[in-house]
Amino acid sequence: MSNQARGPPPNRGLGFVRGRPDNRGRESKERGSMTEETTTTTTTEERGLRPCFVRHPDAGGQCWEPATIRVHGLKFCEAHGEEARIGAGLEASNDAENYFNRLRSPEATPLTSAVQDGLEAAISRVHSEHPYPDEDYYRALSRAYPASSIPEEVRDRVEAWILDERSSYAPVLDFCLDSLLLLNKLLRVAHEDRTDYATSLIETLEYERQCIVAEAAVALEDTERESEALGLRPA
Ligand SMILES: [Zn+2]
Repeated sequence: MSNQARGPPPNRGLGFVRGRPDNRGRESKERGSMTEETTTTTTTEERGLRPCFVRHPDAGGQCWEPATIRVHGLKFCEAHGEEARIGAGLEASNDAENYFNRLRSPEATPLTSAVQDGLEAAISRVHSEHPYPDEDYYRALSRAYPASSIPEEVRDRVEAWILDERSSYAPVLDFCLDSLLLLNKLLRVAHEDRTDYATSLIETLEYERQCIVAEAAVALEDTERESEALGLRPA
């Protein structure tokens, strides 16, 4: 995650809030192979399972795989759930480190030396024993959102954004990952709220997240391609 200045994201031609996402996924059913999707849907429904929550058109439309993994109160299939689960874990870990660091701020209540020692140990542990290495997230991201699942117009949009990347701006992949971190934070806070309104908000936030996840998947693929060409591993 970078602290560099942000370059402008591409105009996706969509507003942030686009109403309840519940019915929207079904519209995207027309994308791709209808025969294949119908078959998978029938299978999922016949087995009495609800389909995965992934449905944003930019992420390939409705995923008809059965939902088996719950993240922030929403249910996903195995691959999409793993991406969402690790993404949520990264945010929770990042937030824990930030929380401990805030206690060291000069504006916070002064700490006794014993508490200070405990705090340093906690920060050190959160930092060094990170349960979710970036590589795990990259693997889950590539598996859940392979190039073949991302619509061509989204790929073109991200490629154009990468071509327009300025030296003073954070790389597009970092921009997407930072945006996902923030969205996961909002999802966590909304999930902790546990009100009926929060449920609707979680669905809207997750729907928006899927659009950015798709962009991150394209940016990651580009980064890996470039690293391979240079004989390097992705950063
Ligand atoms: Zn899925």
